Amino acid sequence: MSSSSEVSGGDRVEQHLAALDAAVDGLLGAGLTGLSDDAVVEALQRVEVSLRKAAAVGNRLVVEAVERSIPGNLACRSTTEFLIQTLRISGGDAAARVKRARKTGVWHTMSGESMEPTLPDTAAALTAGAIGTDHVRAIAQVMRKIPHGTDADKIEVAEHILADAARSTTPEDVTRIGLHLLAHLAADGNAPDDRDRRRMRGLRIGKQGADLMTPISGLLDPEVRALLEPVLARLARPGMNNSDDPESPTGDVESPDLDRDALAKAAARDTRTAVQRNHDALKTGLRHLLSSGVLGSHRGLPVTAIITLSVQQIEEEQGIVTTASGGIVPIADALRMAEKAHPVLAVFDHRGRPLHLGRARRLASADQRLALIAASGGCTRPGCDAPASMTAVHHVTEWRDGGRTDIGNLDLACDHCHALVRDGPGGWATGTAPDGTSHAGRTQWTAPKHIAPRREPRINHRHHLGELIAEILDHARTRREAELRHNRSRERGGQSDVGDEDVP
Ligand SMILES: [Zn+2]
Repeated sequence: MSSSSEVSGGDRVEQHLAALDAAVDGLLGAGLTGLSDDAVVEALQRVEVSLRKAAAVGNRLVVEAVERSIPGNLACRSTTEFLIQTLRISGGDAAARVKRARKTGVWHTMSGESMEPTLPDTAAALTAGAIGTDHVRAIAQVMRKIPHGTDADKIEVAEHILADAARSTTPEDVTRIGLHLLAHLAADGNAPDDRDRRRMRGLRIGKQGADLMTPISGLLDPEVRALLEPVLARLARPGMNNSDDPESPTGDVESPDLDRDALAKAAARDTRTAVQRNHDALKTGLRHLLSSGVLGSHRGLPVTAIITLSVQQIEEEQGIVTTASGGIVPIADALRMAEKAHPVLAVFDHRGRPLHLGRARRLASADQRLALIAASGGCTRPGCDAPASMTAVHHVTEWRDGGRTDIGNLDLACDHCHALVRDGPGGWATGTAPDGTSHAGRTQWTAPKHIAPRREPRINHRHHLGELIAEILDHARTRREAELRHNRSRERGGQSDVGDEDVP
């Protein structure tokens, strides 16, 4: 770098810093009372975007300081210590900034060439102000837990998915998605995990204490969890089976002769914690089990889990499946469950469409629900991870707007999300992704303006992570092959046979 450009670069930074300072001072002094409500919301969002970009600027400065060895020159033992001393920030904050710069900063080789950040999509989203530092931390935490030996391709895809999700969700949601993502990566064909699970499984029923309570502890394997979840989903709803409340309805929340009014009142009175509700539900479930007489039969316990499988998964016997209640079951376990008992099994073709369904056919509502559970996996609103067991069937085009009760116009939404669909400010809208788009036929949601200013419709990938991973891997492969062809034809001195491909 020549000395003259260095001087002008320094001048530019000085100008920008002065302008930044002046702008922030201006905002501090500006009156807010004249703003409309919309303008206040927009101002909050724009300031947030600027703060996020500023964090990316912080990254650049940390990288610059380290590459020049400034901390060492100032006799600091570490970059963290350097930041603590120069910025008077806490040790935790300083360490987080160093970590962030390491993962999302642009570092240079000894010869001065820029290297791609360790988390490239995350870095790009932070620089664009689309995600914040908490998002970055959540993504980095998930990425750190990816098992050793995972394909580089898959690691790249995982980061892409997390960074993309972070652009529309909270950091907590990123962590939740990460949990599912890690399960997908870990389930790709490694037997030792299954052996570990077999060894670790257990349910310890402890000694009855002086208070007559019995402690339990242990670890449930994925199969037991998949069986337990639907029981809890139905019996542990607020207001149901409350042993503190003699007037609370007992039994099954889906039962047609349940008094809905009494349930609503009982739910309002219900002060139990979720843990206590689970406990009461287990009690009710065991009672049902004993009174049903099935234990006396030779067929074993009834299995009520709904398991969906694709043809490909059955062929390859690899990967994981999701139950209707959101549990994750390795494919081998799922197939074993299907052999031994009789769960509701839904099988899908290679494109994830139900094999047994025709749109024209008039279906019984239970069949429709099953098909939707299998196809959508859970609530369809982007960002919602409510499993299918917490959802109801809703019209995509509302009944009053001429929407019909056929499978093409029905999908799953949890009660909370369904209540968001309404006209007027703050309301969400639903529709069907048109033919020719990448997820044609799926239900897409359009967020209100304060959440998505451009109002672009989105679909929920939460319940289709496997599909998303496969899709992105496929794109990456296509892109690499195209690059290879491009390079070869360039080496031959000929014209490239590919144009700029629009692949993520
Ligand atoms: Zn929802």
